[in-house]
Amino acid sequence: MHFYIMTLFPEMVMQGLHTSITGRAIQKGILSVEAVNIRDYAFNRHNSVDDYPYGGGAGMLMQAEPVYQAYQAVEEKICALRRRTFPEGIKPSTAKPAEEYETAGDEQSENLPGAGKVQDTGTRVIYLSPQGKTFSQGMAEELAKEDELVFLCGHYEGIDERVLEEIVTDYVSIGDYVVTGGELPAMIMVDAISRLVPGVLHNDVSAQFESFQDHLLEYPQYSRPEIWHGKRVPEVLLSGHHANVEKWRREQSVIRTAKLRPDLLEKAELTEHERELAQLKENVEKYYK
Ligand code: SAM
Repeated sequence: MHFYIMTLFPEMVMQGLHTSITGRAIQKGILSVEAVNIRDYAFNRHNSVDDYPYGGGAGMLMQAEPVYQAYQAVEEKICALRRRTFPEGIKPSTAKPAEEYETAGDEQSENLPGAGKVQDTGTRVIYLSPQGKTFSQGMAEELAKEDELVFLCGHYEGIDERVLEEIVTDYVSIGDYVVTGGELPAMIMVDAISRLVPGVLHNDVSAQFESFQDHLLEYPQYSRPEIWHGKRVPEVLLSGHHANVEKWRREQSVIRTAKLRPDLLEKAELTEHERELAQLKENVEKYYK
């Protein structure tokens, strides 16, 4: 899977994602992550990519043209990669045809080298924004099916609306709060999506039974020693009885979800016994003492 991250801080995302599990997957060639520096597409002497917002107000806004040019460069990279991977051009485009895109607009941008219609590859372009749809495990699963994804990181007060209208297919938020830039949100998304790509985790099972699968949180886990600070590992986990272990884990998932995220249980498919467990408040409180 190929990730392209359009950003003003390429070193931040590259350093973060070339570490640990994603770093190893990149080394193995299962993933690739390329940061495209929007500042490389600045079109003025000062290399600046931001300007004051029309109508006044605090802060600066990232201008449309450098973002647009950076996007075109990404599309060219994707086309080149596809030509190498699919010499017959088999991968069809899923987004709107290029002729439906409008040019960058004002006189200044029309005169810039390379300005014009984008070359559409059908790749999803995700703008990280607090105004977007909230990122979830379900969304990560859906996005993990793509061959490549493009992320657009805003900074300052955000990005000129006109370029967003032209290139963005998805607006995604990591939660109802505002951070300074789209880099950390993009890294969170790349990380969560990557671990669902086959081969990224050592053991693919660990991507299957985790929190939010089946609308439940994961059960508690223990490792050696058997007794720590006087606390024993639950007996069933030492029994070697696989079916009992599975039963215990499922019940603990239900109890834990009831305690920490009761909202999730609304969509969970529970047996009668599990519904009762979820309602036994005393049990839940005792468990978490
Ligand atoms: N003025 C914008 C607003 O009120 O919607 C917020 C701009 S924020 C300071 C700068 C950038 O950080 C945004 O363009 C976006 O890329 C990123 N960002 C901030 N909070 C985010 C969130 N919760 N999820 C995803 N991206 C976020």
